[in-house]
Amino acid sequence: MDATREEDERKVVEALAGTVVGKLTVIGPMGRDPSNHKTIKCRCSCGKESYIRLTKILNKKVKSCGCTRGPGRRRISDIAL
Ligand SMILES: [Zn+2]
Repeated sequence: MDATREEDERKVVEALAGTVVGKLTVIGPMGRDPSNHKTIKCRCSCGKESYIRLTKILNKKVKSCGCTRGPGRRRISDIAL
C-alpha cells in the first residue's frame, strides 16, 4: 500500500520538478506538514529551502518561502533606503 503511494508521490515530484511559482522552484521530494497535508520541497530565490503545501503549488497560491509577505507588511522606507 505504502509502496504504491510512494510511487505516486515520486511521479508527482517528477512532474512538478522545476516548476516555478513566484520565487519558488520545486525541487522535491514530498513530505507532510504537521496537519498531514502533502508538501513538496521547494527552493526560494532567497536561497532558503522549505516544504510548501502541494495544493498551494498546484493552485499557485504561494509566492515565496515566506520571506516576502503581502504588500503593506513592509514599509517602503525600510526597503528603499
Ligand atoms: Zn524566500
